[in-house]
Amino acid sequence: MERNDRWIGRVVIVGGGTAGWMTAAALSQSLGRHVALTLVESDMIATIGVGEATIPPIRAFHDLAGINEAEFIRETFATFKLGIEFRDWSRPNTRYFHPFGYYGTQKDLGYFLQYWLRLAERGRVADFSEFSLCALAARHNVMAEASPDPNHPLHLFSSAYHFDASLYARYLKSVSVARGVTHTLGDIVDADKDPVSGLVTALRLKSGETVEGDLFIDCSGLRGVLIDKAMGSPYEDWSKWLPMNRAVAMPCEGRMPLAPFTLSTARAFGWQWRIPLQHRVGNGIVYSSDFASDDEAADTLVANLEGKALASPNRIRFTTGRRQTAWAKNVVAIGLSSGFLEPLESTSIYLIQSSIQRLIKHFPDKTFAAVNIEAYNRAAAAEIETVRDFLILHYHATERDESELWNYVRTMPIPDSLAHRIALFRERGQLNLAAEELFQSTSWLSVLMGQGIRPRTYMPTMAFQDDNLLAEGYARLERHLKATVARLPDHLAFLRAGGLIHPSLLAAAN
Ligand SMILES: Cc1cc2nc3c(=O)[nH]c(=O)nc-3n(C[C@H](O)[C@H](O)[C@H](O)COP(=O)(O)OP(=O)(O)OC[C@H]3O[C@@H](n4cnc5c(N)ncnc54)[C@H](O)[C@@H]3O)c2cc1C
Repeated sequence: MERNDRWIGRVVIVGGGTAGWMTAAALSQSLGRHVALTLVESDMIATIGVGEATIPPIRAFHDLAGINEAEFIRETFATFKLGIEFRDWSRPNTRYFHPFGYYGTQKDLGYFLQYWLRLAERGRVADFSEFSLCALAARHNVMAEASPDPNHPLHLFSSAYHFDASLYARYLKSVSVARGVTHTLGDIVDADKDPVSGLVTALRLKSGETVEGDLFIDCSGLRGVLIDKAMGSPYEDWSKWLPMNRAVAMPCEGRMPLAPFTLSTARAFGWQWRIPLQHRVGNGIVYSSDFASDDEAADTLVANLEGKALASPNRIRFTTGRRQTAWAKNVVAIGLSSGFLEPLESTSIYLIQSSIQRLIKHFPDKTFAAVNIEAYNRAAAAEIETVRDFLILHYHATERDESELWNYVRTMPIPDSLAHRIALFRERGQLNLAAEELFQSTSWLSVLMGQGIRPRTYMPTMAFQDDNLLAEGYARLERHLKATVARLPDHLAFLRAGGLIHPSLLAAAN
């Protein structure tokens, strides 16, 4: 490659949690031969280590980072995920499923719900959840690989993973170090800056050592060692919409069958997750200190474990929101240092992935052009704001009224962008989504309908359709999806057949 003083030659990643090692793995694959990569982490400050559920784009990240999918699954005791089951969210004793993939077929050109509303009004169609391959597969604990062939029944299939977050970071570390990433242990106590440009020039470690670089990626978690302390980028607090600020996590022994979905159960003061892995189940309660004490949350978690506890409670504090400028001068914040939206829809690891992809797209030279940085920051802000609205929807669209938390979120003012979206859907079942939004119609439709928001009517043009033809088409599709799912193997059998079980569990799985 042409060597020029303008090009970035040294990238320093601060922090060795999920964000730090994902960044190291992706950059070592895409830039590694041209750029010297160093990752500095403290061996005194623990990682968060509880991000265990993902969404389908993680597969694209693994392609970008050159990760061997089968090896990663085995090493992290991963299982497959087809979506999230929400229990008791709209009111006690209710449940709905937010699946990956699509409702209907691609032939309905995005009008699945509109046709369905027309037929439902006439009592001529099954519940809309019967038209999602992933929802049906999750209900029957079966698994498949999606087909790239648009005519194949599994073309509409889609999956992500649950994995052990600490093992994921460890696995990505082994991949990155093998590719030449320098791993330095040390506590960062300060950063040197150029007095004229304000660019960070080096990290100062407690040991007295310094680590120099051209570009610094702050993956130091909620501390924001560089983005907050060195660059002073303010944190925008979103607690008024997303009031959760505490979590308590505790793994327990697993149980069969191995569910291919995350379970989210609403509680009086928050919600509880259940994430099944090959060797254990991850559990936790997310709550707000305004509505519950730490002891109340931990007691509720312990009382609701489905197996024997495998560790003592791990308590975590956070504030929902985002860093106003995720990229300041030559410091880019990725991971929790750039913001956190609580784990309700498993979006944090995805936001790390998309930040890395965006950084590669906007990779700077040493001039650090302001307009390039601005473009990155605008895209980052737009992305996290649409995800924020989607999360607020889960809390706000509820009929629960038995506790202070639910009364607060049900009646709180919500962002205009979300209020408009709900109003349009309520009027005519329409969703005006931008193509770049992370959550598309399957997601919005599942949660809006699941939380009890029903459109008043459908688009007038639906009345011009032939109802008999539509009803026959939907009935045929329903039979076809059921027949497809009936042929699929059980989740555990699928892992076993693919050689995806961790070697230490093979005897038990056979
Ligand atoms: C309760 C909860 C549940 C979650 N569940 C999910 C989920 O299901 N799905 C999902 O996608 N995401 C989830 N997340 C988010 C996910 O855990 C994080 O996005 C992910 O762990 C990234 O963390 P991180 O690497 O940014 O920070 P951390 O894991 O906190 O790592 C920070 C690193 O910085 C280092 N460091 C800090 N200060 C210094 C210093 N001064 N000097 C040197 N090193 C330093 C630390 O040693 C550590 O290595 C969850 C988060 C929480 C809180």
